Amino acid sequence: MNLFTGPVFDMAAEQFALVADHLSIPEDERPRLLLPKRAIAVSVPIHRDDGRTHVFQGYRVQHHLTLGPTKGGTRFSADLDIGEVAALAIWMSWKCALAGLPYGGAKGGVACDPLSLSRRELEAVSRRYMQEMIPFVGPQIDVMAPDMGTNEQTMAWFMDTYSMYQGHAVAEIVTGKPVAVGGTLGRSEATGRGVAFLIGEALTCCQLVANQCTAIVQGFGNVGRSTALILRQEMGVRVTGVSDHTAAFYDPKGLPINQMAAYVAKTGVLKGWSSEAETDPATFLTLPCDVLVPAAVERVITGENAGQLKCRILAEGANGPTTPDADRLLDQRRNEIFVVPDILCNSGGVIVSYFEWVQDLQRLFWTEQEVRDRLQTILKSTFNAVIGRAQKESVSHRVAATAIGIERVRMGKQWRGLFP
Ligand code: GLU
Repeated sequence: MNLFTGPVFDMAAEQFALVADHLSIPEDERPRLLLPKRAIAVSVPIHRDDGRTHVFQGYRVQHHLTLGPTKGGTRFSADLDIGEVAALAIWMSWKCALAGLPYGGAKGGVACDPLSLSRRELEAVSRRYMQEMIPFVGPQIDVMAPDMGTNEQTMAWFMDTYSMYQGHAVAEIVTGKPVAVGGTLGRSEATGRGVAFLIGEALTCCQLVANQCTAIVQGFGNVGRSTALILRQEMGVRVTGVSDHTAAFYDPKGLPINQMAAYVAKTGVLKGWSSEAETDPATFLTLPCDVLVPAAVERVITGENAGQLKCRILAEGANGPTTPDADRLLDQRRNEIFVVPDILCNSGGVIVSYFEWVQDLQRLFWTEQEVRDRLQTILKSTFNAVIGRAQKESVSHRVAATAIGIERVRMGKQWRGLFP
């Protein structure tokens, strides 16, 4: 038991223990690698539109400070708790190390339902949360980014709040900002572009051709939407299923992703888009397809449904979509289902965040093509490293990816030593 104990943190701890065993990491070294360095909880009071005062709970967990500033998104979601935030921070650490980025992992957020807040209330929550975080963040300390329930507008408010306190514009305090205030070209679609690129690599490994394949995408936020659009428009994949938290749609002939994206841009949710193609969300993930992309919340693939997945490739756009029970089943189905694990699959987001931070620090901005080329170079070599390691050591892609990440953090800690 510790402060973070709960279903999501326990899952991150179990994954870590599995890999620590594989790497033969001594027991006494393990807590230093796993437990977060800092965890901050704050009250975020705002005036509601009706005049009442309401206090939301806010968090930030900074997992390790060994390799540079901490880096990770900020999540606005109703049932957020510190255990979930800590697990997400830990995954960010392995993700950044796997991609070779000079960061530790972090994650934060506010326990609020952004869809139930007016724009003014959302701005108040965002600004007050950042204001409470000022003593604990900085371009060389901890750099935030968007995650579920936040977007480039939230980042602009964060950047403005921090900058007003400093007395000058500090673009490098957050990534995922609008280009107009120091954001990078290509960041908004970067996670989806990375997911789609890695699906392309996985298809090649499985000797499949994109324009003869089907895909099902769970989640139609920033990641799910851009993945579906790129798969359809640039790779010719037939996207047969799309869902969000309000509705799921399936059409074996293929869905008009463009139209659906336009609908969501207007209404905010998929519900009501069509009555014909609507399908049962409970069985959505087990519909037949070549590529399944969970791009929503954690723990959607479990011991219950992992045995029934009918995909050839599982490309994890979300963080932590599979539970350890599901991992065991997926491990047995290793020859049937090619898994692109979350810390590899969705790393395009933080890789381009890193590019944004570098450009802001240098005050020198790149073309979109340069961003895309550099992203592709990192993803390709990381993908090859993960697949090569998994084959060599006869382990799952998830264990291989996490092992590379953990090893790099561990090496940094060993070289730096224990202070004092
Ligand atoms: N929230 C994203 C993630 O989970 C991006 C983090 C970042 O860009 O710092 O990877």
